[in-house]
Amino acid sequence: MSKYEKQRERMVKYQVEGRGVHSDVVLAAMRKVPREQFIPEYERAYAYNDGPLPIGEGQTISQPFVVAFMIEALKLDGGEKVLEIGTGSGYAAAVLAEVAGDVYTIERLPDLAERSTQLLAQLGYDNVHVRCGDGTLGWPEQAPFGGIVVTAGGPDVPVSLREQLAVGASLVIPVGDTKSYQELRRVTRVAEDDYESETLTAVRFVPLVGEQGWPTEY
Ligand code: SAM
Repeated sequence: MSKYEKQRERMVKYQVEGRGVHSDVVLAAMRKVPREQFIPEYERAYAYNDGPLPIGEGQTISQPFVVAFMIEALKLDGGEKVLEIGTGSGYAAAVLAEVAGDVYTIERLPDLAERSTQLLAQLGYDNVHVRCGDGTLGWPEQAPFGGIVVTAGGPDVPVSLREQLAVGASLVIPVGDTKSYQELRRVTRVAEDDYESETLTAVRFVPLVGEQGWPTEY
C-alpha cells in the first residue's frame, strides 16, 4: 500500500466513518479517489488533513468529511444523473462519479474548469462532464437530475436549481446571510409543485457567485 493509500484509509476511518457517514458506496468512493491528485503538488503532504486546502484563484477543495457528508445526504441509489455546482479541483465530482451514473458539473472560473476537465479525463472519469459558466442557472438541457449538490454558499436556494430536480430527488446547498457562514440545507422535490426543506448542519463555504447567488462585486 502506498503512503497516500494508507493516509486515505485513515482519513476514511477516522474523519469520515468516525463522524457518522455510513453509506457503503460513499465510503468506498472516498477510499478510491486519489485526493492528492486534485491539489497543487506543494500541498500534497496535507492532502489527507482534516480540512479544506487552497487550490488557487482564491478557491478551496472542501474538507473530506464535508464532501462525503454532502454526497451521502443526496441519498442516491446509484446510476442517477447528478449535477454539481462548483467543480473547483474536480475532487467531489470524482467522488460523485463513483456513486452516481453521470455527473454534470459547472465551474464559473475558466482556469479551474480547464484544469479539472483535464485531470478528470486523465484519471479516466469519462462519466463527468464539466462546463464553464454560472451554475446558479443549472444545466437545463440535461435536467431533471436525480440529485444536485452545490459546493459554494449562496444567499438562498436558486429557483432554477430547485426546478431541475426530478420528483423525489434532493438538492444539498449551503445557504446563509453572510458570505462566510452557512447552514447546509437539503431541499427535496416531493411532488411536481411541492418541496420540503431541512437544515442538516452548519458549514463554511466560499461564496456562490452568480445570477441567483451573490453579486460578482464583493
Ligand atoms: N467541489 C470542489 C472540489 O471538490 O474541489 C470545491 C469547490 S469550492 C469550495 C467552490 C467552487 O465554486 C469554486 O471553485 C468557485 O469558483 C465555484 N463557484 C462559485 N460560484 C459559482 C457559480 N455560480 N457557478 C459555478 N461555480 C461557482
